[in-house]
Amino acid sequence: MSSEKTPIPAASNFIRAIIEKDLSQSKYATKKWAGSPGDAAHQDTGVVDTAKIRTRFPPEPNGYLHIGHAKSIFLNFGLARDFDGICHLRFDDTNPEKESQEYVDSISDAVKWLGFGWDNANETNLYFASNYFDFMYRAAESLIENGHAYVDEQSADEMRINRGTLTEAGKDSPFRNRTVAENLARFREMRDGKHADGSMVLRAKIDMASPNINMRDPAIYRVRRAHHHNTGDQWCIYPMYTFAHPIEDALERITHSICTLEFEDQRPFYDWLLLRLAEPTEDVGGNKKPGLLAEPLPKQYEFARLNLTYVVLSKRKLIQLVEEKHVNGWDDPRLPTIAGARRRGYTAAGFKLFTDRIGVSKADSWIEYSILEDCMREVLNTDAERRIAVLDPIKLVIDNYPEGQSEDCFAPNHPLKPELGKRTVQLSKELWIEREDFMETPSKGFFRLTPEGMVRLRYGYVVKCTGCEKDADGKVTVVHCEYLPDTKSGTPGSDSVKVKGNIHWVSVAHAYEAEVRLYDRLFKEAHPGEGDKDFLDDINQNSVQVITTQLELSLKDAKPEESFQFERHGYFVADRKDSVAGKPVFNRTVTLKDAWQK
Ligand code: ATP
Ligand code: MG
Repeated sequence: MSSEKTPIPAASNFIRAIIEKDLSQSKYATKKWAGSPGDAAHQDTGVVDTAKIRTRFPPEPNGYLHIGHAKSIFLNFGLARDFDGICHLRFDDTNPEKESQEYVDSISDAVKWLGFGWDNANETNLYFASNYFDFMYRAAESLIENGHAYVDEQSADEMRINRGTLTEAGKDSPFRNRTVAENLARFREMRDGKHADGSMVLRAKIDMASPNINMRDPAIYRVRRAHHHNTGDQWCIYPMYTFAHPIEDALERITHSICTLEFEDQRPFYDWLLLRLAEPTEDVGGNKKPGLLAEPLPKQYEFARLNLTYVVLSKRKLIQLVEEKHVNGWDDPRLPTIAGARRRGYTAAGFKLFTDRIGVSKADSWIEYSILEDCMREVLNTDAERRIAVLDPIKLVIDNYPEGQSEDCFAPNHPLKPELGKRTVQLSKELWIEREDFMETPSKGFFRLTPEGMVRLRYGYVVKCTGCEKDADGKVTVVHCEYLPDTKSGTPGSDSVKVKGNIHWVSVAHAYEAEVRLYDRLFKEAHPGEGDKDFLDDINQNSVQVITTQLELSLKDAKPEESFQFERHGYFVADRKDSVAGKPVFNRTVTLKDAWQK
């Protein structure tokens, strides 16, 4: 991605400010790291961490990443890079259902494609949270031993009712005051498969009257007989996300754990749990035991998730679109998945520009989809070479041009980068031009081809129209013209004849007939499903149009994922999936101008 040449300084944001302050106060200066995740005893064997900060991107492998995740990736990996730190890629695979290797692979691909990796000096910082199940179990027993957790056998309904409301305190469970021994025995029975799914849970013992409902004895382990993609059938109890996530962060010695705003109310539990697990304890005989987790502990910071108009950024909804075949797979170019955006021709540099431009804030808002498109346009305008494409062809015959002859015309590859040189395109007697570039009865302000009008064939000659042929329905089939031999672009005196219009063309004998897909927005509403509507009802039924086009011959050699500006039309990319060598098909990435802001 060559637009890295003019880096945009990452705008400051509140998270950067926090990190700068932490570093200036040497908060993590003596933090030890043993080269791999682990408990306090393990980390104590290590040396002072060379990574100034550690962040993580922790996707659950239950779907493909979307543009919202890109924001989080740029934030976490970007901060690590800018502050001499390391960002971990962690698969948060503690939920046995709905997780799969396909998702793991696609997520890894997406992160790499956005320009980031997890191989750092001497270590590979790619982790799977399910590898921490043993520790999580030990942590749960430790909470029980220290009177901080109990096994609750209330039904789900009872638990819900007794949790209370925003205005009413909750009620203690009748199981809340079991002895440590009873709780330990019960929890081990849960682990050993002695109890049915859903029959009991392990809960943290905090405060049923807390004004924060998340602190009213949250569940931390549940019984669930499910096969896990990594641990198989080893476990029939699984930790809850709110219990697992802080522990994962602590074992990996994350300093700044950055998440979206909906976790703000979980922060007190995050801190409570890690403190309980890090503090030294005493056994019944009064013997001191060191804490399980090393300090300094990670801290959680929340930012506003990305909401983008005209798309849905929720794995659940994306899964529905794919499974119900509203689109053709996860990488359908209309989807806001990273895989789809990539096929559409969006670029990593464009995403970087976008995330820099929208910034990071603590207030939820909607970002206009057109801002993302503008960023892609800007990057492609700089990066993409120009080519000529006739998307809706009709024939133009130059009647006074010799039959069987052709000649070279020279078209610059990039108007802003003369160093990219020019390429030759062939001109001959029969050309393809855009149907809309000829009007038999021109409307006001139409400066292209009209009967008896004159126009310049871009990079070629000035031609004068002499008439047209029509079919039985009155539809124009062929336009006729004559060329003015002394007017060839780039030759002395070529501009002696002044014309107002300038049209593009492709020689019939030298054209590459290609399939092009014109994509439009997948949803016709800015906020799909807003109100009580089903978001599927807002699908734009005309979000793709497949056309047969006439392109300049050089495009026949386009490599998959090569992007071009088709002059006057927009940016197009050779599809990475459906293109075969010598026969690429093209996807429209974005038009030259925003067609939705009419
Ligand atoms: P979804 O809501 O689409 O299912 P998720 O939050 O469940 O997404 P995770 O796999 O848990 O998906 O997300 C991995 C990381 O990406 C999390 O740290 C999460 O905060 C972040 N993330 C997810 N969606 C967005 C978004 N729209 N904007 C910014 N960050 C996001
Ligand atoms: Mg999630």
